[in-house]
Amino acid sequence: MFRFNKKLNIWVKEDETSPLLESQDKLFPLSEIINPAGSYIKVFGHQHPDLDSIASSIAVAYLLNSRGMNVNACRLGKYNAETLFAMKHFSVEVDLQYIDAVSDKDKVILVDHNEASQSAVNIENADIMMVIDHHGINNFSNANPIDFTTKPWGCASTIIYKMLKEANIKPRRDVWGMLLSAIISDTLLLRSPTTTEEDKGAAKELATQLGENLEKYGIALLSSGTDTSKMTARDILLGDSKLYTLGKLRIRISATSFVKHDSVLDRRKEIELEMFDIISNESLDLFLVMITDIINCDSDLLVLGNRRDIVCRAFGIMLRNNTAFVKGLVSRKKQVVPVLTKLLKS
Ligand code: MG
Ligand code: MG
Ligand code: MG
Repeated sequence: MFRFNKKLNIWVKEDETSPLLESQDKLFPLSEIINPAGSYIKVFGHQHPDLDSIASSIAVAYLLNSRGMNVNACRLGKYNAETLFAMKHFSVEVDLQYIDAVSDKDKVILVDHNEASQSAVNIENADIMMVIDHHGINNFSNANPIDFTTKPWGCASTIIYKMLKEANIKPRRDVWGMLLSAIISDTLLLRSPTTTEEDKGAAKELATQLGENLEKYGIALLSSGTDTSKMTARDILLGDSKLYTLGKLRIRISATSFVKHDSVLDRRKEIELEMFDIISNESLDLFLVMITDIINCDSDLLVLGNRRDIVCRAFGIMLRNNTAFVKGLVSRKKQVVPVLTKLLKS
């Protein structure tokens, strides 16, 4: 069977291995694989997508389309700096379809999240066929039978990598590279307390297959996400941010990180003004920003909103200039959300 390769502008045999076509990536552009014509099932991660949300969407589309489904990889926001670094490093020449809402008729697959408040607008009315996630489940319900996979692992991409392996899907450098990058990003290079043996095993295996030095690539990738000097306060606050409804409270928790110096706390006044704006626009009770030192694995917290007392109680801290240092705190998912959830239930 022959197919026309637009990039190389020639007809090629599907199994041909000429020097021009040394990799499968060139024979089948990723864009055709993850956004095939006529696809109607949308797969996407959370709003303000991080690397894991983008990598998971790409990899799930690759997995399911390889098995004859018709899945379209989407994103609910712009790529962050880390994601762009990984896409460039592994030559991921594809742009996921941008959407912000889904229709009542849409069939969807959620990756790297399950909460409606973090998902596409109107998700409550769409037909959710599948969820692959590694977060807690606080507000999810679905009337129809559903394919729901959740693991208490450090990264959704670790779960999906295992699925790809079990299904014997052919490795591609671009997809495999995104999965490795997502694991590094979500687990802070396997140092976050969310890291499991599964994540470590997957990261090491992927790095070996890709010929990457895990530590060297990992530090370069994590550092790429920390340059906030040219970012606006709003981009810093919403680049990696999640909205929660815990008890009766609306809480936004944002994360930003730094390597060595250059903490965004140097711009505290400007950032606080933007936080006040978001608090009033979104009627938030609490806005918590985690400013994480990714080498030492500690965080400064910047906290605003009427219910700042909750954060003080949760971590036994006092705020000074709306900030406090918390040793060993790096994970929103494992160290912040469960503590706040428990506190607000009692
Ligand atoms: Mg995520
Ligand atoms: Mg994740
Ligand atoms: Mg993250």
